[in-house]
Amino acid sequence: MSVIFERVAILGIGLIGSSIAHAARQTGAAGTVAFYDTNEATRKRARELGLGEICDTPGDAVANADLVILAVPVGAMGAAAASVKDNLKPGAIVTDTGSVKRSVIDAVAPNLPEHVFLIPGHPLAGTEHSGPDAGFATLFVGRWQILTPVADARADYAAAADKLEAFWRALGADVERMDPDRHDVVLAVTSHLPHLIAFNIVAMAEDLEGVTESEVVKYSASGFRDFTRIAASDPTMWRDVFLNNRDAVLEVLGRFSEDLSALQRAIRWGEGEKLYDIFDRARRMRREVIDAGQDTAAPNWGRDKS
Ligand code: NAP
Repeated sequence: MSVIFERVAILGIGLIGSSIAHAARQTGAAGTVAFYDTNEATRKRARELGLGEICDTPGDAVANADLVILAVPVGAMGAAAASVKDNLKPGAIVTDTGSVKRSVIDAVAPNLPEHVFLIPGHPLAGTEHSGPDAGFATLFVGRWQILTPVADARADYAAAADKLEAFWRALGADVERMDPDRHDVVLAVTSHLPHLIAFNIVAMAEDLEGVTESEVVKYSASGFRDFTRIAASDPTMWRDVFLNNRDAVLEVLGRFSEDLSALQRAIRWGEGEKLYDIFDRARRMRREVIDAGQDTAAPNWGRDKS
C-alpha cells in the first residue's frame, strides 16, 4: 500500500494512539509515526515497545507532521491542541479520536491556527484495556470510524477530509461522516448509557448487603461477568465522556429510567405478556446487530470454554 501521510504525529500513547501506530506501520499508511505523551513513564514504555519516534515535547512530535492525531482523554483535548498550536505545519490535518464530538470541537478549534484543517473523528473500536501496551494493529478492522467535519468553507477542506478518510480505510475501518451533535446523541444511546449502566450494576453489586462479594464473583458467569468487562474501562476516559456529553446522556438516561419504571411495574403486576414483548423486541435487536456484522453469532460470544 502507498503511504498516505509521510509523517503522522500522535498525542497520547494509550490504547487508541498505540493501535493507530501499529496499524499505520503494518499497512504502510504512514511514513513515520511520532508520539508525545505528557506522562513520562508512558513515553519510556513506548520507547521500550519501539512504537515509533517518541518525542520529549509536543512541538517536536508535530513538527513537519502532515497528520496530527489527538488521542488523549476528552477533557485534555483543548490542552493538547494548545500545546502544539505554534508548531503545526501549514496545511496539516488535525484530527482526534475523542468519544464525544461537540465539546471536543469547542475545546480544540479555538486553539488551532487558521492554516490547518480540523477534521474531528471517533473510532468505534476499543477494549477495556488502556496504556501503550494495550494497542494492536487490527483494532480498527471492520469497525466504524466516524468523521464529523466542521463548517469550513476553504476549497481544499473536502480534499483534506477525503485524505483522512483514505487513511482510516487503509487501517481497515469503515468510514462514515456525521454531524457532531447527531454523533453525541447516537453514542449516548449505543455506548455511553450502556457503560453507565455497567458501572452502576457493578458498583451496586459491590455494595449489596446480604450477598457476599465472593458469591457475586463466584456466580458472575450468569450475566454479571459481561457487565464487569464493560465496567473495567478506563475511569479517566469515562469520567470525561460523561462530563462532556452531559445533555445527550441525561436525555437518554431520562428515557431509560422511564422504561425501567415500566418494567418494574410490569413485574410488580405480573404482566407477563408485556415483559415477553419487550424481551422479544430486544432479542430481535440482537439479531440485527449480528446481521450488521457488529458481533459474532457464536454461542457465548465465541468464548473458549476449555
Ligand atoms: P488512554 O489509554 O488513557 O491514553 C491516553 C494518554 O494520553 C495517557 O497516557 C495520558 O497520560 C495522555 N495524555 C493526557 N493528556 C495529554 C496531553 N495533553 N498531551 C499528550 N498526552 C496526554 O486513552 P485511550 O483509551 O487511548 O483513549 C484516547 C481517546 O480516544 C479518548 O479521548 C477516548 O475517549 C477515545 N476513545 C477511546 C476508546 C477506548 O475504548 N479506549 C475507544 C474510542 C475512542 P496520563 O495517563 O498521565 O493522563
